[in-house]
Amino acid sequence: MFETKINIFNVSSLINSFNFILKFCILVKNDSEALKYVDIHTHGNWNAEILQIKNLALSEANTISENGFYSLGIHPWYILETDFQSEERKLANLITHKNCLAIGECGLDKICNIDFSNQMRFFEMQIQLSEKHEKPLILHIVKAFNELMAIRKKSKAQQAWIVHGFGGSIELARQLTGMGLYLSFGQQLKNEFSKASKTIKSIPLNKLFLETDTWEVFIEEIYHLAALRIGVEEGELKKQLFSNFLEVFPDQKRKLMS
Ligand SMILES: [Zn+2]
Repeated sequence: MFETKINIFNVSSLINSFNFILKFCILVKNDSEALKYVDIHTHGNWNAEILQIKNLALSEANTISENGFYSLGIHPWYILETDFQSEERKLANLITHKNCLAIGECGLDKICNIDFSNQMRFFEMQIQLSEKHEKPLILHIVKAFNELMAIRKKSKAQQAWIVHGFGGSIELARQLTGMGLYLSFGQQLKNEFSKASKTIKSIPLNKLFLETDTWEVFIEEIYHLAALRIGVEEGELKKQLFSNFLEVFPDQKRKLMS
């Protein structure tokens, strides 16, 4: 009896996996044009045509949409020292919504005026929530990559971490992707001589995302520039980033399977 159950389970999970692979292959092979662009981090307007994660601060939680995906978090610039517990409670409550795909942007910023140990406290809290609720992190990191790598190791975090607006060196990109982190590039790709334009060539494509952030730019343009800088077909890039999205957000992969 027990064995029969196992077999049935195995067969049905095999069929499910097969269906998924089939669906995915049909989607990406025959219809890469129909695949949506992924904008992993934007402050722009909701747009159903794009697979986007709109960034919201806790104070914007009343603008949450039932249709679009978003990330919610406490940015290091806006940390309120006295409000740690109430902010933590608020965040823990709001991120349970199915459309809240990630926590962020959050992180560490050595250029802003907020006390660094306080930034660390808020960041560690958001890492814990990310692990507990299985929501990846979208990171804002300025001149604090050593601290970021140390905390990734120390926390033994399993969730995906996506560094947004990456503009660092090839060496730094190697270190971060080597630890399993994802890097997202945006506006800086406009300048062919920027660090981002050089670095993007060197990172594994399965660790890459693209974004519009706060800039008035279309994600299509960022894809076009990224493809140009990397030297890859735009259609290939579209497939890869779609697949990266499903990798990082397995719930969306499951939805596609069902
Ligand atoms: Zn942003």
